[in-house]
Amino acid sequence: MAELLDVRKEYGDVAALRGVSMTIGYGELVGIVGPSGSGKSTMLNMIGTLDRPSGGTVRIAGHDVGALGDRQLSALRANVIGFVFQQFHLAAGVPALDNVADGLLYNGPALPERRERAAGALERVGLAHRLGHRPHELSGGERQRVAIARAVVGDPRLLLADEPTGNLDSSSGAGVMDLLRELNAAGTTVVVITHDRDIAASLPRQVEMLDGRVLDGARR
Ligand code: ADP
Repeated sequence: MAELLDVRKEYGDVAALRGVSMTIGYGELVGIVGPSGSGKSTMLNMIGTLDRPSGGTVRIAGHDVGALGDRQLSALRANVIGFVFQQFHLAAGVPALDNVADGLLYNGPALPERRERAAGALERVGLAHRLGHRPHELSGGERQRVAIARAVVGDPRLLLADEPTGNLDSSSGAGVMDLLRELNAAGTTVVVITHDRDIAASLPRQVEMLDGRVLDGARR
């Protein structure tokens, strides 16, 4: 699903990644752990093709990201990858149904079908009874479920989550992790950054980062 070969990323004179090599297989559920500033988000940005490496090779679903132009990269992102963030990033004042339907805007079907698929995705995350609720009318855990529905409404093969439980109490966080596990069991490759040692320990594979390098879990 994702292959990083000696990936480096520098921001000015800050080395955020200092030569990371690792492979994430199709169907894996992987945690990325490590202290603040160790390069976790930078690594997720590389896997998510949100940013280009300063050196090395990133391959996603067999595509060499460095060989793709911006439009091809956008297409790869839209068709293959779903993103979930700590801050949810839902549109304020917009009902859950349309927040999720907007996940299909890139080359997507017309609005009625987008809404139909959005309703299906919300049902999948246990929110069939909240279609018309706006973000401020939802709990934190429900907001993150809407964000996850938006991320998976296009059936991405790869789901990337950056601290998805970081703003949630432990019980809502556990619910969100259960949901990510269910999506993984149904075939989606899931990569999740977490500070939470208990959550990390519950995942089948952990990639530990320190100072821009991978310590454990590396596979070439
Ligand atoms: P983590 O997610 O583990 O907290 P990051 O990947 O966010 O770590 O950051 C790794 C290092 O790169 C840090 O020293 C951070 O300050 C630096 N960094 C990250 N993004 C940028 C940026 N856009 N500009 C400058 N420095 C950055």
